[in-house]
Order: sequence, then structure tokens, then C-alpha cells
Amino acid sequence: MTLRAGVVGHPVAHSLSPLIHGAWIAAAGLDATYEKLDVAPTDFAVFVRSGHGLRGLNVTVPHKEAALACADEVRPAARRAGAANLLTFESGGITADNTDGIGLLAALREQAGFDPTGKIATVLGAGGAARGAVAALLDAGASQVWVVNRTLERARALMVLGAVKAAGWSKSTDAFLEAAVIINATTLGLGGGPGPHAPLGMTAPDCVVMDMVYKPLRTQLLIEAERLGRPTVDGLAMLIGQARPSFEAFYGRTPDAGVDVRGLALKALGE
Ligand code: NAP
Repeated sequence: MTLRAGVVGHPVAHSLSPLIHGAWIAAAGLDATYEKLDVAPTDFAVFVRSGHGLRGLNVTVPHKEAALACADEVRPAARRAGAANLLTFESGGITADNTDGIGLLAALREQAGFDPTGKIATVLGAGGAARGAVAALLDAGASQVWVVNRTLERARALMVLGAVKAAGWSKSTDAFLEAAVIINATTLGLGGGPGPHAPLGMTAPDCVVMDMVYKPLRTQLLIEAERLGRPTVDGLAMLIGQARPSFEAFYGRTPDAGVDVRGLALKALGE
């Protein structure tokens, strides 16, 4: 029987996930599909509840919070992040999980050899992606996470996650002086626009700078970090890192590490 999974979003045409999963499916010779499913928010709960014979779904904008609400069982990573990017369907019901944190930590490890244990991290932004990042960093052993956000109240809301300090941009000096890693989780920099006004010059010389934005791959923030000689990590590494555990959940096997999914994605991005 063909194993079916997919990504649900609105819109979803731009998603790179079918390319990534499709390449792994082909390499494994699986009788499987990975489909693009464009579902409007008003139809999302009914769509998910009916299952459609799918093994599971990746969930993208704007459904990540709604996906959590649809689940019968919520795994800790999804609960902490307040959002799910992975739903799996078993006879017992729908399970929600979040693999973005795994992707984030894998990207930091692969491209910068960075382990957050005992380190201070600074996350720029306080939206859904930032929340997941803060939870993952704390769960991986970070001693403290600064959250710097335009809207201070949203940064403060993340203090429930643990050792979090919140700051607005005007009072963020310590967040840059103390950080071992800076992660952009705002939407600033998307499409080549200006990145966040991060004073990278005041960070430690070995401070890792990561951008979750991957269109373009080299954002203005990463270009500035490179100019200053800081190690950098891009958002595509995170995207691929979150896809691996999803593939395992859908198809019951580890993706072939020999497949150059990064190369395929870079080509699709026009890089
Ligand atoms: P979101 O919930 O809409 O949050 C957006 C954040 O950006 C908020 O903190 C917001 O601040 C800030 N922001 C937006 N415009 C701003 C401006 N003009 N000046 C200052 N701050 C501004 O978005 P999200 O879902 O968390 O996603 C954030 C980014 O992460 C997106 O670019 C997304 O594509 C990326 N992402 C990448 C991956 C990956 O695998 N690489 C995974 C997940 C997300 P306020 O709170 O003040 O509005």
C-alpha cells in the first residue's frame, strides 16, 4: 500500500518540503507520496479530522497553532512551542509534535559545531518560531535565553518557558554582549529586505549568528556577521533538520544522508 504524507498550509505552493521528502523517497525506493495540500483556515480542523488516508502531515503557516488544537495527544516539544509542525495519524488518534527545535539544534551543530549547554543565547523576535527556539535552547541546556522583540509584552510572555530575560530593542545591549549565539526569528530579512538592527560588532568574536530566514540564503544579517568574522548558520540547514524526524515519523526509516537535499533546495531557491 502506498504510504501517503504531505504538507498542509495556505498558501503552500512555495514549500520546499515536497522536494526534500521526494528526494529521500526516491533514494529509498519507497512506494510513497509527499503531497502539497492547500487548505484554508476555515477548513483546517475538518480536513485534519478526516485524515484522508494519510500517515501524517507537516503543518506550515498559518495552521501551526490550530494543529495543536486538533490533536488528541500533544508531545512535550509541541506543548512547549505552543505550536505543531508535525501531525501523525494512528488508530488511537492524532498526535501533534514539533520538530523545528530539532532542526534548529541540528543546524547549529552542523554548521557551527555549536552546543547550547551552559551557554547564553539571544533570540530576536517573539512569534511562533521564536517561542519554539527558546524552548528548544532551554531544553538543550542553555543557561539563559534573552528574547529581544519590538513588542516587549510578547517577549515577556516567553518568560514562562524558564530562564528567559526579555528586552525591547532600545535596551538590548546586554543581550548582544552576553550571547554565545544570536538567532534571528523575526521576519526581517525575508526577500532580501533589511535585517534586524542587531549590533553584531559588540558580540564576542566567536558568537554564532544564525538566521531562520532562508530566502535569500545569505541574508543581510549573515553577510554582516561574516564581514565581522563571526561563524554563521543559515535557515535552510534548519529546514532540512526539521524534515528528517518528520520523514522518519511518516515512512518509518531514516532519510539517506547521501542525498544532496541541500543542493536540490539551493537550486530551487535560485542560489
Ligand atoms: P511571526 O509569528 O509572525 O513573528 C514575527 C516576528 O517578527 C515577531 O517577533 C515580530 O515582532 C517580528 N517583526 C515583524 N516585523 C517586524 C519589524 N518591522 N520590526 C521588528 N520586528 C518585526 O512569524 P514566525 O512564524 O515566528 O516566523 C518568523 C521567521 O522564522 C519567518 O521568517 C519564518 O519563515 C522563519 N522560520 C524559519 C524556519 C526554518 O526552518 N528555517 C522555521 C520556522 C520559521 P512583534 O512581536 O513586535 O510583531
